[in-house]
Amino acid sequence: MESFKEAHLKPEILQALDDLHFHKPTPIQAKVLAQFKDELCDCIALAQTGTGKTAAFSIPILNTLNPWDHDIHALVLSPTRELALQISNDIYDLSKYQEDIENVVVYGGASISEQIKALKDHPQIVVGTPGRTKDLINRKKLDLSHVKWLVLDEADEMLSMGFKDDLDYILSHMPEERNVLLFSATLPPEIRKISNKYLKDPLELTVGKKNEGAKNVTHRYYLTDRSNRFRALKRLLDESPNIYSIVFCRTRAETTDVAAKLSREGYNADVLNGDLTQSQRDLVMNKFRDKQVEILVATDVAARGLDVNNLTHVINYRLPDEREAYIHRSGRTGRAGKEGLSYIIIEPGEIRKIKYIEQILGKEIKKTPIPSSQEIIKAKLNNYLNRLESANPEEHNLDEFMPVLEEKFGQLNINEILLKVISLEFDRTFEYYKQAGDLNASPRKSRRDEHSRKGRKAELNYTRYFLNIGTRDKYQKRSLIDLVNKILPAKNVDIGNIEMLKSYSFIELEKGYEDMAIKAFKNTNMKGRRLSLEIAQKEKSKKRKHKRKGKKRR
Ligand code: AMP
Repeated sequence: MESFKEAHLKPEILQALDDLHFHKPTPIQAKVLAQFKDELCDCIALAQTGTGKTAAFSIPILNTLNPWDHDIHALVLSPTRELALQISNDIYDLSKYQEDIENVVVYGGASISEQIKALKDHPQIVVGTPGRTKDLINRKKLDLSHVKWLVLDEADEMLSMGFKDDLDYILSHMPEERNVLLFSATLPPEIRKISNKYLKDPLELTVGKKNEGAKNVTHRYYLTDRSNRFRALKRLLDESPNIYSIVFCRTRAETTDVAAKLSREGYNADVLNGDLTQSQRDLVMNKFRDKQVEILVATDVAARGLDVNNLTHVINYRLPDEREAYIHRSGRTGRAGKEGLSYIIIEPGEIRKIKYIEQILGKEIKKTPIPSSQEIIKAKLNNYLNRLESANPEEHNLDEFMPVLEEKFGQLNINEILLKVISLEFDRTFEYYKQAGDLNASPRKSRRDEHSRKGRKAELNYTRYFLNIGTRDKYQKRSLIDLVNKILPAKNVDIGNIEMLKSYSFIELEKGYEDMAIKAFKNTNMKGRRLSLEIAQKEKSKKRKHKRKGKKRR
């Protein structure tokens, strides 16, 4: 489908599309609209944020809506409040010439009575987060008995955030006859299960390959030793002076640490993690959107719903536990037709994770040397000289200063003056990079390192625990990290390796928090079950060895 006109849309929608300068459908819009031109059916659409998916589901909803009907015609579920608000705004823009159409957005953390009041105005479209939507159904304030369309947006994210039960509840309050549109960036097995349960013979629409990352993103990895990770990050930031990036960490503690260190060293960085209140979170997000902050250090969970289209880089300071999460992270750059870069900083011991991600990415992640001091200085210098070249002194009426300049620098030639300017501007950079060595790790050398005393000592900085929660409890590594962060009273505890089995897990936490961690978990119930965190006993395996030895001797 080459143009929106071919989709038999209402003139009001065509007019709104024109106002938005949407001149032709994006690939996912073309597929969805071509399908719904003839017949309505359930669909699974594999499409990431940035592909135009919001309009892809909003246009058919608006096109089939009868403005005189004042029942709820469509429910759109989204994993986060930010995304829900964004969808609601987009629907508002697309429906601006359909005067009688109202859409209401409902989400947690805001006054429910205001939302109930808004629902009394009989909107035809409701956009909501699963928790609040369920709550409103429960209070009999949201009647879904006439719904014709259900959209599950970013369905993989909703599942990984633990909304499965809420979705089950909401779907059980909807009529059998409805069209379900499920949008997801990746296709993990849980999405298949949801689809088998709730979608009827769904049509599968894919833009690009399944689970594939955005097309115009280049992926690179940088190999360095554990102790050099932060320095490597600084080099990557320094190499691109106009960087606008999210730096992804694995835990809240790590985000706080990295952001604080970057700010201390003069980078324009801030932190976005689950410790922030909603208003702090809004403030940081707005600063980042306005580019008052250029480097946002975030966890996966906190960065959800942050709609920024023009990131130059995504930097994986630490890889996520699930490879699908990497697709989400890297899909935040290279949007709206722009080129994007996704960098991974990795230790030699983790190198196999690269192959594992490449498998679902369907693309090579290129091993790239960490830039040398000389390369960084060159990049910074080039950028500065370009800025100097485009500076416009005429704008500032500087003639009166000319005699002073003549008097001071009249004896020097232009190159001598430029060198002085550069040496002053780059004083700190030259000083820092004078002693900066090579940060590239060689896989062989570092494997040895890992087993060296130093390596073992680093590992010993964690205590290994047994926790009575496993994959059977519908937890994944990411949600387990969230749970630990939520339960532990101290927020700066580093989380090491996590090993998940069916009914229990082993989890490493930074040393020194043993009593606090065990106590905090002891007093916590999860879905009616008492949690139990114990130190995993290494002695047990030793004992077994002794026993075995004993048997042999006999
Ligand atoms: P989404 O994937 O829905 O978050 O959309 C990503 C961006 O693409 C948003 O900024 C939209 O405004 C924009 N967009 C959506 N559809 C089109 C279109 N047909 N032409 C141009 N831009 C679009």
